[in-house]
Amino acid sequence: MLVNHTVIPDVFCTSLSDQDKPEEACGVFGLYAPEEEVAKLTYFGLYALQHRGQESAGIAVFDDGKVHCHKDMGLVSQVFKESMLTELVGQIAVGHNRYSTTGSSHRVNAQPAVIATRLGSLALAHNGNLVNTVELKEELARRGCDDFLTTTDSEMIAVAIANEVDQGKDWIAAATSAFKLCSGAYSLVIGTPQGLMGARDPQGIRPLVIGELKGETAEIPDRYVLASETCALDIIGADYVRDVEPGELVWITETGLTSQLWAEAPAKKLCVFEMIYFARPDSIMHEETLYSYRKRIGQQLAKESYIEADLVMGVPDSGIPAAIGFSEASGIPYGEGLIKNRYVGRTFIQPTQHMRESGIRMKLNPLKDVLKGKRVIIVDDSIVRGTTSRKIVRALRDAGATEVHMRISSPPVTHPCFYGIDTDNQNQLIAATKSVAAIAEQIEVDSLVYLSQEGMLKTTLENTDHFCSACFNGHYPIAIPDPIKRSKLILETP
Ligand code: SF4
Repeated sequence: MLVNHTVIPDVFCTSLSDQDKPEEACGVFGLYAPEEEVAKLTYFGLYALQHRGQESAGIAVFDDGKVHCHKDMGLVSQVFKESMLTELVGQIAVGHNRYSTTGSSHRVNAQPAVIATRLGSLALAHNGNLVNTVELKEELARRGCDDFLTTTDSEMIAVAIANEVDQGKDWIAAATSAFKLCSGAYSLVIGTPQGLMGARDPQGIRPLVIGELKGETAEIPDRYVLASETCALDIIGADYVRDVEPGELVWITETGLTSQLWAEAPAKKLCVFEMIYFARPDSIMHEETLYSYRKRIGQQLAKESYIEADLVMGVPDSGIPAAIGFSEASGIPYGEGLIKNRYVGRTFIQPTQHMRESGIRMKLNPLKDVLKGKRVIIVDDSIVRGTTSRKIVRALRDAGATEVHMRISSPPVTHPCFYGIDTDNQNQLIAATKSVAAIAEQIEVDSLVYLSQEGMLKTTLENTDHFCSACFNGHYPIAIPDPIKRSKLILETP
């Protein structure tokens, strides 16, 4: 049946700056597939990972030991043309989507970082953020490595590996020694003339998965893929094999895949925000899609915060799975009340506040006939600053909603992230300075309830110790040096 919704024209615009979400900080992809068009497959892998970084994109391809790299500012589809991909011929490819955290927004900081070594060049793609860059830079300078081309921590990791190689080590020994100099979050894909490497920090803060492209005949061996998320395997027809474990290094060559634990005491601490918001809902973590997890947190949220209402809706798109779960558990009908212009895309390419404020604007339009006279529960995945939430609430009321109750499928964000997610300074996080009641007043809702920390972790169905949830409680699993802490963590931790 066709429903003729009345859309209020031009009522509600939200700028990229007040998306009011923490922003992702990079997607990585790598492929060892001598018989395939590796650049084209990497392009599609990056295309699936576009949500993890929209500032710049790059692909490095190894062809019989020589590396060819193309990278630039912009979305994957803007940076690469088919003719370029056709020219990037080789056996091994490494790709990267970037949203800057450490380092400013310049073309020179685009990845992969390519560094020459005694064994040939390496091309490194990094997702995460180091917290000991000052110490690492000093150590590298002490070794005579002080000629950096970029302002990124990723280049420091690449330089550290190259330095170890140049001291006579092979790739695996060099990488292991270099990783021991690094503290923080790093999921890495590293191409070399001899093979493809994947590695995670000892806590495995950022995800990294292994996939397999099946050979069509016995002569063509299986080919391996590394990616930030499984959605990048699906798009190229690769099968998910397993995660790279925290503190693990995998090495892929013509003889297959070998693995070793390089860290002495790995302890799983996956970023729980990956599950709640960052990663795509069709990506698989812990043997289920994140859509299923997010629906379950919506069900948990309904148990914790039921209120009588006529309609449950989600903030498009990321609030929708939890809203569906809320509706299922509460028995309150689910419906769409806001329509997003899907063709604008996620365009927060620019990471500085000034650039964000002058960024392109994206529209959400309320459906007046759906909302008129209704008591509405609106579900969102997080509130960071609260600016967008208030605009949404006003738009719903203007469209005729009689009550607006907001439910958040994560706990209050009270602390900044130092592990590769671009959150604000602590004093800009609304929940760090205001009570839930005060936030409710500020965003003009009739009621506001956040998911409990226990509820968030319990619904993972995993060991609750296996997650970083520091932005909700300030318990950082990797120690943050005081100067870095002071740069963002302005308030005292209670
Ligand atoms: S601090 Fe928050 S965003 Fe950062 S890694 Fe931990 S859970 Fe994720």
